[in-house]
Amino acid sequence: MRIRKPTVVVLASLLAATLGTVTAPSVALGQPTSAVPGTTAAEPNQVTGLIVSQADGYATVAWTPVPGATDYQIERTPVDASDVATGPAVVVGVWRPNRQINNESPTFADAGFDPGLRFQWRVRARIGTAEQPYSAPVTGTTQQPWGDPAVPGENLRTQWETTKAAQYTSDVNEYAYTAEIDRLSDRVRVVEIGRTVLNRPINMLVIGYPAPPATPAAVAATSPLAVNCNVHGNEPGDREACLVLARKLAFGTDARTIDLLKNTTVLMVLTINGDGRAANTRGNSTGQDLNRDYSLIRQPETAAYVGMLRDYRPVAGYDGHEYGNSTAGDLPMLPPRHQNVAKQIFDESLDMIEGHMYVEGAKDGWWACPYGCQGGSGVGLSEETILRNTLGLKNTVNSLLELRSSGGQTRPDEGNSANNRRRKTYSALWTFSQFLDYHRANLPAIKKARGEAIEFQASNTGRLVFRGSRPIPLHPAPHPGEAGPRDDLPEPEMILDDAPCAYKLTEEQYNGARTDGPNGVGATVAQRIAAHGWKVVKGTDGYYVPLAQPERGLIPLLLDAQGAEEWVDGTRVYPTRTGRHNGPLTISGFACLSDATVNGPVTVRPGAILVATGTTISGPVSAAGATGVFLADSTVRGPVSISGTTGAVSLVDNTISGPVSVAVNNTGNDPALIAGNSVSGPLSCAVNSPAPVNIEVANSVNGPRSGQCASL
Ligand SMILES: [Zn+2]
Repeated sequence: MRIRKPTVVVLASLLAATLGTVTAPSVALGQPTSAVPGTTAAEPNQVTGLIVSQADGYATVAWTPVPGATDYQIERTPVDASDVATGPAVVVGVWRPNRQINNESPTFADAGFDPGLRFQWRVRARIGTAEQPYSAPVTGTTQQPWGDPAVPGENLRTQWETTKAAQYTSDVNEYAYTAEIDRLSDRVRVVEIGRTVLNRPINMLVIGYPAPPATPAAVAATSPLAVNCNVHGNEPGDREACLVLARKLAFGTDARTIDLLKNTTVLMVLTINGDGRAANTRGNSTGQDLNRDYSLIRQPETAAYVGMLRDYRPVAGYDGHEYGNSTAGDLPMLPPRHQNVAKQIFDESLDMIEGHMYVEGAKDGWWACPYGCQGGSGVGLSEETILRNTLGLKNTVNSLLELRSSGGQTRPDEGNSANNRRRKTYSALWTFSQFLDYHRANLPAIKKARGEAIEFQASNTGRLVFRGSRPIPLHPAPHPGEAGPRDDLPEPEMILDDAPCAYKLTEEQYNGARTDGPNGVGATVAQRIAAHGWKVVKGTDGYYVPLAQPERGLIPLLLDAQGAEEWVDGTRVYPTRTGRHNGPLTISGFACLSDATVNGPVTVRPGAILVATGTTISGPVSAAGATGVFLADSTVRGPVSISGTTGAVSLVDNTISGPVSVAVNNTGNDPALIAGNSVSGPLSCAVNSPAPVNIEVANSVNGPRSGQCASL
């Protein structure tokens, strides 16, 4: 049940138009020299109503459709200031009906030219192979690269820009360019999130207005969005777009930019794979494809990224790539489809693509389509090692972005590599700018989806799927592209209907040396679990990783022997108690209550571990000196008191009638999670180390909130 949101889309485009975005063309710079919409054609089947609008690195060519047209050719001619041709006319584009979701208002984003030059455009229809008369011409001067050459900061240019796309920006020049942005703009902080295998810094730009929040937690509170600009070193187009976009966000004074940055924080990791970029290879220096490692985090690059996700908690993301299929659309996109991703995250991600990108793409002329648009049956599947799926399993709305790497039949003037590189990069710039607008307009829906997804995951309900995707039905015709990725439904051996309560790991599994990293040395499972941010409690007989937590969909993929690419074969621990229990219940050792009813109080003894999901307890619940307390999707008809816990505390999506007190829990590096609960009485937290968090999923509390929980 996908929810389409036409009003939101209208809002987004209104916002873009009224705030004068530099990426969404609304006013044609070139005055139409002839033929405005509705004008009668001078010749039969002649295109009329030609309008060309200039935007950042591209020109949107729009016209009135010709009845019976099979496709259209877009012609561009360089002209001087007097509109006299200075070079040959070239067909630069072919518009096909599968390009956009509405065929009544055809548009084509012409790109590949050197920004700032002046051109004439004409469009003609073809009926079958028969070419019809060209439209009257329209001339216009294309937009200069963003930024006044006379204004410090604005005048920065990348190596790619100064060489007119002959060279990509090197690592050295990336660092110099971003250091200058950091120095000259209060809005930007460059943070090194880690190092590559060969010790190159992995930098992230943190951008906010008037300045980015000071700490990762403060950034997380702004519901940030994240762009991963370059993971495959030989796919550099998106990275150049990020560098240009960074300059605009750092120095732009237009109302749209200020509004965007006042309301969130933009995170851009420019080059996670700096070694691969320098060598122009897909993998990192060890040959590892990093986009098959985001769950496993065997490599320092992916570990850095995942640690960043844990600390900054972006609510939405884009992951930039290039794609070699020359017959696909300009911009193949795909949501996280792994079936363990919460449906709310899948739905919102698909809506971002189909409800926003398809709609805006049809206005601006860019051809967004489902990844695999044509002949792509083997791509876009369910590997949780792919960032798109990893992010979804971390409850982040997101999409893959692929820039079609060659021009193909629809962009016949891209034999020139600079033309090709400019089209790719400016199409990425369009996408990332649209992503900012989508986030700005849809943040309440994104946060709602995320909150519900976290609550769903923590409830530990429903089957587990190790590999297998949700199907993506073709968008109603005219769909953008001929096909989507194949269904990729889970095979029976990839399904576990009866989910365990937790996984138990031995000392060796948890802390033992690993050989799956660079040079045969890998981080321990304990370190990788910490990077993902999961809660673990040490019992008397092993380390317990309960599924009653926000990344429930990801945990079994790495800890279960049935996983396709797991770390270890952990022991499944099933619930110890379901059904009805009359009278007081005292927990010692490890206990897991699932869909249970306890008619009496529950006492968790010192050193014990309680995991309860879907359980009703008449209460009270009291834990003093426990090792771990996990309570999710449950009802307590009485007070809850948790103190002196030494391992982990997690209260998610519970309904609690009594007062809730969380005090003097010393849980190491892992703060108590108190999120999405409804509490009828007071909520008080004191002397916990560290202070409890709600990871931006607010609690509903009728009584007063006090101490460390005052703002949860
Ligand atoms: Zn790629």
